[in-house]
Amino acid sequence: MSNLLNNLPKMNTLLMHPLLSGIGTERAKHAGRETLDKLRSDVLSGTLTQLPSLDECARIVAAKISEEQHNLRGVINATGIVLHTNLGRAPLGKDLISGLSEVFEGYSNLEYDLTTGNRGSRYSHIETLLCEITGAEASMVVNNNAAAMMLVLATLAKGKKVAVSRGELVEIGGSFRVPQVIVQGGAELVEVGTTNKTSLADYVDAVENQNAQVLLKVHTSNYEVVGFTSSVPAQTLVQYGKSVGLPVIYDVGACFLIDTEPFGFSAGETAMSWLSSGADVVCFSGDKLLGCSQAGIISGRADLIAAMKKHPLTRAIRPDKLTLSVLEAALRLYRFPKEAAAKIPVLSMLFAGEAELNSRAVALADRLRAVLSGWEAEVIEVMDETGGGSLPNVPLPGWAVSLSPCGLTVNELEEKLRGARRPIIIRIQYNKALISVRTLLPGDDDAIVKWAEDAASSFSAG
Ligand SMILES: *Cc1c(COP(=O)(O)O)cnc(C)c1O
Repeated sequence: MSNLLNNLPKMNTLLMHPLLSGIGTERAKHAGRETLDKLRSDVLSGTLTQLPSLDECARIVAAKISEEQHNLRGVINATGIVLHTNLGRAPLGKDLISGLSEVFEGYSNLEYDLTTGNRGSRYSHIETLLCEITGAEASMVVNNNAAAMMLVLATLAKGKKVAVSRGELVEIGGSFRVPQVIVQGGAELVEVGTTNKTSLADYVDAVENQNAQVLLKVHTSNYEVVGFTSSVPAQTLVQYGKSVGLPVIYDVGACFLIDTEPFGFSAGETAMSWLSSGADVVCFSGDKLLGCSQAGIISGRADLIAAMKKHPLTRAIRPDKLTLSVLEAALRLYRFPKEAAAKIPVLSMLFAGEAELNSRAVALADRLRAVLSGWEAEVIEVMDETGGGSLPNVPLPGWAVSLSPCGLTVNELEEKLRGARRPIIIRIQYNKALISVRTLLPGDDDAIVKWAEDAASSFSAG
């Protein structure tokens, strides 16, 4: 054993090997040390009784370096869940990020007014666009919608009582609960109505008898109460708020910025519909139905937005230039709905027609069958999902390739696909391995077929 240890290559010898000479010394040393340490411990534990040659060691080190991967990396979403929270919610696609490298790589006019040469506002780049699209008087952006809610409440409701329907005291996920957010904002919650039924009279009671000074409506985006229910429409609440001079805040969560009917999609609502109904402030996520980067957008009355921009909390939750540049790219597209529908992946995935999805699934199944001999690749109808807590009860019929692997269980296949260099995340349902085509981006089909080609030889394919 000590003989083996003595014969381990020396670091300097290893670094001089031609395979490693073109690689930065720090990097080669780092990988070389890991390789030699591993060999040493394998010798000591007795699992290694013959040392690899110097050439072999150099090959191991070179492979280690070339295979280094980021922990956070791209995956292929074959689950059919469009806004998959665990997979980064909205994919941005090529169109939203092309042309942004100038901002990413170098300096930018983030807070610099190019007309006057003076300090500018980071919100100016998106505010005019947001107002043009939503019809709002003023708008601003923070890091996410949870932060937006905190800011809205901290600015408008601190030290005041906020009336919210008991049916809307929801948990959004990740311990973000409406009652707690209200407390965090320095406000006091006045619960209105019951879990299943809230009427305008309940709000009137909260205002007249319990001194509520702010009216908050929360879109229950991730669940629905069905049966013996009633709630007060935003419009009615807004009218009431106006009649008594109290601000109405609407946390919309997920909404569109274009009318989706012309694209054959009748579910969901637009930010415009809430603003035009007269809500004083609405806030919504950038990476839900908007299909953009993580952001919280606040739109509404100019005097209220101005107060929010001055609030100290704003500094702690302000968006960076990456967020703002992607958002601006998306908003520029939103001025032209057809272009937005074609170029914003979340929209094209949601609007994709069944016939189109079917033919994509048929084409993918044919290609997979051709390379995976002995496997069955069947095209089946599935129910995709919007995800991200959005449109929970809206059916999204889609098509998938159901793979029956030869010599592997469905779970083993799922694991192998997940372990691919570019991981492929599939859905298992009814003991079938499903590749749903709705959430595949351009090029993903090719990557899946390529994976199958590479993998085919290593499986006991018939
Ligand atoms: C999703 C959601 C939030 C939280 O938004 P994030 O952008 O995820 O922070 C808040 N309120 C509602 C109603 C939501 O649907």
